[in-house]
Amino acid sequence: MSSPTRVLVLNSGSSSVKYQLLDMRDSSRLAVGLVERIGEQTSRLKHTCRVTGEMREQRAPIADHEAALKAVGEELHRDGLGLDSPELAAIGHRVVHGGMFFTEPTVIDDAVLAEIERLVPVAPLHNPANLTGIRTARALRPDLPQVAVFDTAFHTTMPESAARYAIDPKIADRYRIRRYGFHGTSHAYVSRQTARLLGKDPSEVNVIVLHLGNGASAAAVERGRCVDTSMGMTPLEGLVMGTRSGDLDPAVIFHLERVGGMSMDEVDTLLNKMSGLFGLCGDNDMREIRRRVDEGDEVARLAFDIYIHRIKKYIGAYYAVLGRVDAVVFTAGVGENAAPVREAAIGGLAGLGLEVDAGRNAVRGDGPRLISPDSARVAVAVVPTDEELEIATQTYALVEKSG
Ligand code: AMP
Repeated sequence: MSSPTRVLVLNSGSSSVKYQLLDMRDSSRLAVGLVERIGEQTSRLKHTCRVTGEMREQRAPIADHEAALKAVGEELHRDGLGLDSPELAAIGHRVVHGGMFFTEPTVIDDAVLAEIERLVPVAPLHNPANLTGIRTARALRPDLPQVAVFDTAFHTTMPESAARYAIDPKIADRYRIRRYGFHGTSHAYVSRQTARLLGKDPSEVNVIVLHLGNGASAAAVERGRCVDTSMGMTPLEGLVMGTRSGDLDPAVIFHLERVGGMSMDEVDTLLNKMSGLFGLCGDNDMREIRRRVDEGDEVARLAFDIYIHRIKKYIGAYYAVLGRVDAVVFTAGVGENAAPVREAAIGGLAGLGLEVDAGRNAVRGDGPRLISPDSARVAVAVVPTDEELEIATQTYALVEKSG
């Protein structure tokens, strides 16, 4: 029998599981879906078989991740793509925090699970859910290779000068306080695709990647290796995001506690869930914000301007970090779709060789494309991210190598 070529990608959140089944012979999607509101009465499973085009939706309580994965397995089975299929080569898991230890995708065994568990204190929101997904999948198919692909791995090449905060190293090391960065799977994929768009090898180009989704981060990628990124010990640092503040004087936190009488949990919620675009103007969807700006809404305008100002600061900073830049690339929900964001972020940067061609920027598309004029010194591009494909590719490569 020929060797199996399918990879199931699982992205397990605290109350959700997103999944995609890919065939790595041509990177095609065979099925995609999502289980939401696990543990509630209103759970929902949405499944699409890309082979037949059939979409199905289930609304019935799903008690836990084990029940969710079983339900996913049943849906796949109905399409003849079940978890018991001999064509399934591996399961690839998105794991948010791999600390300094995991620099590459890793086949999961008990020791790897223990190490991911050890990182829970630095990733209390994400790693427990990822662990639950892995444990459940291992119980369902103990014989199958399961691979962890870490959001932090791409950033482990950052030099100490970029990864360390300016605090006592003994305290930093004791509590594992350092800049880990996130969205690494996206930054890796998009920076490589950008090199390809320029007709170059990743080792030949320096790229600033702007991953602008509901979460947002920038990365400075030098010859294929990350040398700086805007998220830090947690995803709170850096750019203005949908609901996160991004960079902030840490003394604001002391002030809110001492003068505002807020508890640490309240400040945490304020900065992670009630800030950013949402905190500034009550909306975190860029489509809605642009609609309001176009209608003359001053509150939305200010939120937009603060968002853009922060992006510009990071472009300037990473230009200086890299010394020479070949491309600035936009990706994720906002970066791929919001032409006014791209235009405003690059506006006024002609002195750095950065320009946007209005006609090219306005064209909608779903592939990688240049939006700078041919005469520009530095390319400006839009490259759609594909974290699931990257996880599947890394998982399959590892399984092939070790199998
Ligand atoms: P992501 O986290 O990458 O899925 O991005 C989600 C965000 O992308 C949404 O919150 C919107 O702000 C933004 N977005 C999605 N589609 C569009 C669009 N057509 N125009 C502007 N922004 C968009």
